[in-house]
This record gives sequence, structure tokens and C-alpha cells, in this order.
Amino acid sequence: MFFFACKNKHFLKNFSINLPPLSKLLTFVPQKQSDMDKNKTDNKTELADLGEFGLIKRLTENIQLRNNQTVMGVGDDACVLEYSEEQLVVTNDLLIEGVHFDLGYTPLMHLGYKAVVVNVSDVLAMNAFPKQVLVSIAVSNRFGLEAIEELYKGIHLACKDYGVDLVGGDTSSSTKGLFLSITAIGSAPKERIVYRSGAGLNDILCVSGDLGGAYMGLQLLERENQIFRADPNIQPDLSGNDYVLQRQLRPQARIDIITFLKKQDIIPSSMIDISDGLSSEAIHLCLNSGLGCKIFEDKIPIAMETDSLAEEFGIESAVCALNGGEDYELLFSIKPADYEKIKSNPSISAIGHFTDKAEGMSVVGKNGAKIPLNAQGWNAFLNKK
Ligand code: ADP
Ligand code: MG
Repeated sequence: MFFFACKNKHFLKNFSINLPPLSKLLTFVPQKQSDMDKNKTDNKTELADLGEFGLIKRLTENIQLRNNQTVMGVGDDACVLEYSEEQLVVTNDLLIEGVHFDLGYTPLMHLGYKAVVVNVSDVLAMNAFPKQVLVSIAVSNRFGLEAIEELYKGIHLACKDYGVDLVGGDTSSSTKGLFLSITAIGSAPKERIVYRSGAGLNDILCVSGDLGGAYMGLQLLERENQIFRADPNIQPDLSGNDYVLQRQLRPQARIDIITFLKKQDIIPSSMIDISDGLSSEAIHLCLNSGLGCKIFEDKIPIAMETDSLAEEFGIESAVCALNGGEDYELLFSIKPADYEKIKSNPSISAIGHFTDKAEGMSVVGKNGAKIPLNAQGWNAFLNKK
């Protein structure tokens, strides 16, 4: 097995969220538990008693606005924003219980945090800085006020960590389950906005942080959830796996990388965030830029924790990095002339370069073999046992 020790995973310490290690915090609950408020099953406050306006008030009453572009936040028919010079980037994600998250093991606070992070990550991937978010929820009567407040605790924490204002949203009931839709707004000067389509021949392909950890975190949670469902008397022992659990349940968006690039006066030629795995995102950059690429397997950064858990599961960790997902790292390209400026940043790895389209898109394995990027070959490694 190979691994690249994660060079800088401790950048997360700068963030305000300070939770107990996930391996201690997590409890598994049966899937069809009627009351999702795990900790306070006895004193659930019914949302129906509170009413829509009461709930909105509880969720938004302590909002502090942080950005001068926010003229009016929550409290009117629409928020009012003032951007005079910069271009806006706007993105939205919809998260559905049972499709995008499993409340059997996802703490609500982490769900709220992650929901904001994934949108912030999309804004950053345009080389813009996030400024505002709108949050819409639809909730069934299975949830009490306490549960929704947990969700919002995570949302508010993420807003604080990334310096964004919660400026509005919508609140509705649902017949079944929890729906969460988040819109994020960010901005950058027109000339700094980065598209997927701008890569040039020989540009260097770089990735932030390390990859594959979120996928291994999910594998672990799914495995332990299966065991729990077979015997609900056994709570899983997740100790020693905090890193991958955090990668899955509490990812971070790489605002530090965008800040670094700005300071170095580097505008990436193309960029995308890694939500679906390195392979899929590299293909997006190639197709949009009309180029091919070569990625070197031994340059793909993988944390030691990811590597050893992958080994336990009988999975190639490179496959987790290529075909897993939800790492929310940034994949971007720079001109060869800018390489000097990034090479000493421990959070950035150069993993390959763009080639002529005719050369195709490939990963060069450690043995020198060229494997087409989108080939099933990588999937076939997923279960090598
Ligand atoms: P409207 O009837 O115009 O849709 P609402 O009563 O739904 O207004 O919302 C009142 C205010 O609260 C608005 O500023 C809206 O953006 C905000 N808001 C509503 N639901 C949420 C929510 N879940 N999270 C944050 N803000 C919300
Ligand atoms: Mg409304």
C-alpha cells in the first residue's frame, strides 16, 4: 500500500467549531425511530404549537450580520444586497433525508454545518468569497423544535466560520422527512472569477488537502450501521477513526486556499471542487477546457488514516480518492510559471498536468501503466477481496 501522509490536515483547528471527537459523540438510532430528537425524547416541543412564524423567530433571532454588502437580512419579504463592482456567484443545493443523508447516524448539528459548507465550497470553486446564504427547510412532525435548533446550531456555526450572513429562506412542513435547500451567494472581481473551461496545455493540475477520507468515513458509518441494525443493543466502537468521520460528517471548504491564491496573486486557469471524486472532477475540467490530462497516482495526497482504513476494508485508497467523493477539496490548474509560488504550501499538491486532447485523460499508476480516467478499471478495484 502507498500513502502520502496528509500534509496539513490540522488547518481545521482555526475554525471555531469545537465539538467532542465524533467517535464519542455519535450514537446510532433505529431508522424508523418516531422521534428524531435523540437526546430529549421526553420533552419535545411540537412545531405545530410554535407555528411557522414562531419557529422562524427562534431560528433567526440572534443573527449577526458580518458583511457590508448585506443591507437587509431576515425580516422582510426579501433580503437586500448591495454589490456595486464585483460579479456575483450564486449556487444552490438540495438535500433530502434518505437520499443525501441518513439521520440514523448523522448528528443534526453536523448536517446543518455540512449543508452550508458544501454550498460555500461551490462559491470558492469559482474563486469567489462567500457572503450570504439562504436556508429553506421542510420538516415533518417527527421533529421537534429542539431538533431543528440543533440543525440551525450547525448552520450558524458554519456561517460564523466562513464569515457569511444568513439572510433568509423559507419554512414549510413536509409529510415525511427533512428537506434542506441552501443557496449561497459570493462575489469576486470579474477578472478573478475562475471557470472550469480555462485550463491551458501543460498547465499544472493541483489539489488541496487530501482525498478519499470522506468516502472511507461513509464506508465505516455504513458498516457500523448495518451491525447496529442487526443488533440494536450494540453501539458501534468508532474510536481511532475521528479523522475519516470528520471528513464525512464535518467537511471544511477550502477558503484558506482561495485566500492564499489571492495573496500570491495567482488566478487559477480552471477550478472545480471535489464533490464526486477526483476522477469525475478532472474529467469535467478536461471536457470543459478541451484538453486531456495526466495524473500521477503516487502524487495523489491520501491521509494515513484513510489509507489504513482502506486497507482494513480491502479497498485501494487511490480508488477512494479517484472515485469516492465529498472531500470538498479544490482541484485547480495553474500556469507552470506559477509553480514556484505554490510549491512550498503544504496544503497544495501538484498531481499532474493538462495534455493535448488526443492524449486522453489518464492516471499513471505507480508501475508506470496508463489507466484511462473514466475506466471501470478503477471501480473494479473497489472490492478487491
Ligand atoms: P414570506 O411569507 O414572504 O415567504 P416568511 O414568513 O416565510 O416570509 O419569512 C419571513 C422572513 O424570515 C424572511 O426574511 C425569510 O427570508 C426568513 N425565513 C423564513 N424561513 C427561514 C428559514 N428557515 N431560515 C432563515 N430565514 C428564514
Ligand atoms: Mg416564506
